Amino acid sequence: MASQVIREWMGIQQFPPATQTKLLELLGKLKQENVNTLTILVMGKGGVGKSSTVNSIIGEKVVPVSTFQSEGPRPMMVSRTRAGFTLNIIDTPGLIEGGYVNDQALELIKRFLLNKTIDVLLYVDRLDAYRVDNLDKQVVKAITDTFGKEIWNRALVVLTHAQLSPPDGLNYDVFFSKRSEALLKVVCLGARLKKHDMQGSTIPVALVENSGRCNKNESDEKVLPNGTAWIPNLVKTITEVVFNGSKAVYVDKKLIEGPNPDEKGKIFIPFILALQYLLVVKPMVRAIKSDIAKESRPAWELRDTNVAGRKF
Ligand code: GDP
Ligand code: MG
Repeated sequence: MASQVIREWMGIQQFPPATQTKLLELLGKLKQENVNTLTILVMGKGGVGKSSTVNSIIGEKVVPVSTFQSEGPRPMMVSRTRAGFTLNIIDTPGLIEGGYVNDQALELIKRFLLNKTIDVLLYVDRLDAYRVDNLDKQVVKAITDTFGKEIWNRALVVLTHAQLSPPDGLNYDVFFSKRSEALLKVVCLGARLKKHDMQGSTIPVALVENSGRCNKNESDEKVLPNGTAWIPNLVKTITEVVFNGSKAVYVDKKLIEGPNPDEKGKIFIPFILALQYLLVVKPMVRAIKSDIAKESRPAWELRDTNVAGRKF
């Protein structure tokens, strides 16, 4: 971390003035509440638009985006400051490879995050996917097993490729809510979340369109088919997660390594030894002693004794 270069957030100036005003207002709100640093972790399957979303938020091409290749194996943190506020975004490699959760990638992510605080998790997937399956559940389970259920109190689901015409003439907002509902169900299943785990709130969902061909409104802001200017909306949803009353997740050694296996069950060792002595060793010694007592001495032993006792 010491070598991490924190640059001025110049990319913000790439946004149209209307977006800049809204973003600076949101940063002002965070600072007002003494939130001077935000660390956002971006996770999800490969190819869903994680890196593109990082670039869109920062307003610069800071992480590589790949159409066909799989992503680099390592997480990458990008840090930018603006008027005393620091934004850290951590892009991660996709968690699925060859149809399975990529444990090696997960391990690298864990190590990278050691001693960092995750303020918000962006769980990224595509809006234009019509099904959820077991792999989605596996990814959510892997994230939950790594950071604990609490991470979902600090999460928002981000759906990319949001500039789409829904199939079968479905209304855009109806399609969006059906897709969100299906994904949130999988998140709750994969994370084994119950109502009380979420402290009464549901995980918010934000839409993203990273394509350069995204439609714009009269203020030159990138907008979704339902008219929402998605960049300020995404940042607004992120700040709502920060203020939802839940705790940020600090990644310490204990969290990523789980309970120390050396410590596990140590307390039971004296009881187990005592039980072993009473139930196994003691009866065994008793049995051996009684066997010896009962045993008639073999002829050869008697003979040997006689030989030993004979005088020559
Ligand atoms: P990652 O593997 O999750 O990091 O995904 P990338 O950001 O590398 O994106 C994978 C491909 O999807 C690239 O070709 C991107 O240009 C494309 N892509 C990402 N987000 C969007 C989006 O919102 N809309 C469209 N049309 N393409 C996207
Ligand atoms: Mg990527």
